[in-house]
Amino acid sequence: MRLVYYIGIDLGGSSVKAGIVTEQGTVVLKDKKPTRSKEGSDTVIRDIAALVEELLVASELDGREVGGIGIGIPGAASKEGFVYFATNIFWTDVPLGEALGKMTGKPVFVANDATMAAVAEYQLGVTQKTANSVFLTLGTGLGGGIIMNHQVYSGSHGIGTEVGHMTVGHNWDYDCTCGNNGCWETFASGTAMKNHAKKLLSQKAPSVLTEKTKDDPDHISVWHLFDGAKEGDEVCLQVVQRMTRYLAVGIANLINLFDPEIIALGGGISAASDCFLDELKLQVSERIYVKKMNLTRIEVSQLGNDAGIIGAAMYARDEERRSKF
Ligand SMILES: [Zn+2]
Repeated sequence: MRLVYYIGIDLGGSSVKAGIVTEQGTVVLKDKKPTRSKEGSDTVIRDIAALVEELLVASELDGREVGGIGIGIPGAASKEGFVYFATNIFWTDVPLGEALGKMTGKPVFVANDATMAAVAEYQLGVTQKTANSVFLTLGTGLGGGIIMNHQVYSGSHGIGTEVGHMTVGHNWDYDCTCGNNGCWETFASGTAMKNHAKKLLSQKAPSVLTEKTKDDPDHISVWHLFDGAKEGDEVCLQVVQRMTRYLAVGIANLINLFDPEIIALGGGISAASDCFLDELKLQVSERIYVKKMNLTRIEVSQLGNDAGIIGAAMYARDEERRSKF
């Protein structure tokens, strides 16, 4: 039987990663390039096509063995690959799927990067075999992908979900990058944590952060904040506590809406879950409608950096198979 491979691409703000992936989700070869987003979408798309070509040459695969290409993007796109917007790579109305399809001769399937990570988690990670799950990427921002009845939930227009932009309050300190105020990610994300810490420091609160960052608040990282909280620093504790409280608000909303079996936490901040997971579970159980029953599990993702590539490839596999029926 002829083996079929899929190419998974994870298009991020700083780099574009690509991998050749088996039908079962094993990465056989991968590579990456910097995302030259300042040079425009045409340059980025040409770079992606070149990366695909380089991988095919290096793997000595005949292009005919590749069933399709999946791309996770940091923004909103239709399934056919029309990118409505992706703010941190400065894209608006870019026909990514059509352009890359012409360059590579392969079917191209596009979705939000958090949706791709949710697919990887469903195929190989903690939400495997569960019918309904929500995957959250806690990083610079806050993204999410939803699996409903064993399938990616992509909405009526193929855009899917933008859970980070649910309004969960009024943010008196700053507006969201989307132009709205009070989005979830302005309260519960790496950026939110850093901004909160800067505000507390500007009020002259004493903190170990002054020493950790050599008195430059722009150098605060989430790791300074989690380390400081472990050391009992008051500013860092306040930052982690507020992030946890708002994370619980949004997760309780998602549980009330979808009644999933699992909420999976991924992204850089999930690596520090020992600082907030127990408190998060407690606060979620106090906020959800069906209280104290803990029907929904909250689990930390075990998949590493390849989740975006694997998820995009598996998404392409499923969509390509579906297109044949
Ligand atoms: Zn927003």
